[in-house]
Amino acid sequence: MKRIVLTGYRGTGKTEIGRILAARHRVPFIDIDALIELHAQRSISAIFREDGEEHFRMLERKAIASLPTADAVISTGGGAVMDPANMEHLRRESTMILLTADPAVIEERLARSPRPALTALPPEEEIRSMLEKRRQQYAASADLCLDTSRITPATAAVTIADRLARGVPTPSARKEGLAYFRGGRLPAAALRSLDAILADPPADPLTRLLGVAGNPALHSRGPRLFNGLFGHYGLNCHYTFFEDPDIGRIMEQARALDVKGLSVTIPFKQDVMAHLDRVDDAAEQIGAVNTVVFACGEATGYNTDWLGVRRPLESFTGSKAVLLGAGGVASAAAHALRDLGMDVTILNRTPEKAKELAIRSGCRWAAWDTFDELHPDLVVNATPLGMEPDTRSPLRCEQLSPDLTVFDLVYTPPVTPLIEMALARGCTTIQGTGMFAEQAKEQFRLFFGIDVPQETIRKYLS
Ligand code: NAP
Repeated sequence: MKRIVLTGYRGTGKTEIGRILAARHRVPFIDIDALIELHAQRSISAIFREDGEEHFRMLERKAIASLPTADAVISTGGGAVMDPANMEHLRRESTMILLTADPAVIEERLARSPRPALTALPPEEEIRSMLEKRRQQYAASADLCLDTSRITPATAAVTIADRLARGVPTPSARKEGLAYFRGGRLPAAALRSLDAILADPPADPLTRLLGVAGNPALHSRGPRLFNGLFGHYGLNCHYTFFEDPDIGRIMEQARALDVKGLSVTIPFKQDVMAHLDRVDDAAEQIGAVNTVVFACGEATGYNTDWLGVRRPLESFTGSKAVLLGAGGVASAAAHALRDLGMDVTILNRTPEKAKELAIRSGCRWAAWDTFDELHPDLVVNATPLGMEPDTRSPLRCEQLSPDLTVFDLVYTPPVTPLIEMALARGCTTIQGTGMFAEQAKEQFRLFFGIDVPQETIRKYLS
């Protein structure tokens, strides 16, 4: 057995269930809170009371960083998952199990223990608000989920042991999944990897699948990047291609195969929204989802494209932007530029679409041929012009003044005709690879709670 890490809110049964599970598997049981108390020679309540939560989090970080990677059952404190550095240590060579319980059950269990309050709110309100605040990180920590509201710790431990032995997904789902992938256009190497993961019995029953959902999808650099990162962080996961003309079928397969997450690409960023249980606020406002996280039977949609546009511009000082295009990525770019407080004018081949996006995102719009009258500080290309094999540029050389910053969201090739022209004119340039790397970094954080440095992303992208 590999390391088993139990996460979840306080009062969900991590310590008791962990102790039973460890005894059953004859491996050590490590309770992080007990470890902290041992090192500090004080109770958690005393640490909170005397030195505050920040000091406790520092001790917790140290304790987690010192954990052995040998087989063990580890029980974490309820807030440990909030720190990406903790997640990096906890996820390495581990299966993470999220324990959940109804807020009323948690309240009743906590009333019996002397744990410090985390906020000034009444107990049940505190539980609900903390669960909401931690929802994303708990989902990122869930390889398996178990609701402990109405079962004893002994039953919970037996259920977990059974599910670990059986693996994720079930044998019949694996068989159907394999037939599904064999019916597609997967490259031979990708199919060989899936053969091993979905075989009966599989090479490792606890390997989690992720993938890129699109049509086409086989051009995606996702598998290369994510599989590289899985090796780097010691994650028992495999990333593949879900290429299908029907997003409904992809979502059905993904749920049956207990997929951990999907990156969503053309043409499904809007259509996928009808197949989700939840959509986060930014994705709802943008009207497109490019990331789906599955946890505890729920699929949640996010949009990381807008952060991919926002982050490379965070130190940009100009305030007037022109956005070329009014499609899916333009909508994410408009959200990012408005979030940065810029005055944005949208130009598009089909002016009605520019108008529609402008109204939705609080921007202006104008006819494509008015570019020369606008004198922006920044131009963002969100059309496919310049994407291989196309060698066109959305703007002419003489339209680019040297004080302009040019951000081309097209990233194949990395140096597009527009970027080449902008460089020749002395403009500041930002390549589409910058956006791709930033949005992928955010996807990885949503999938696993780990914060990947840009250099690591770039290493596995190249
Ligand atoms: P989309 O929804 O199909 O929208 C394409 C937009 O470009 C539409 O506004 C369309 O105008 C316009 N357009 C298409 N062909 C044109 C042409 N020949 N001349 C002028 N305008 C044209 O596509 P999308 O999902 O937004 O993707 C756009 C591009 O963003 C992709 O091609 C890709 O290169 C890039 N992208 C980059 C990243 C990254 O991470 N860097 C991620 C995703 C996408 P109409 O409204 O008139 O059709």
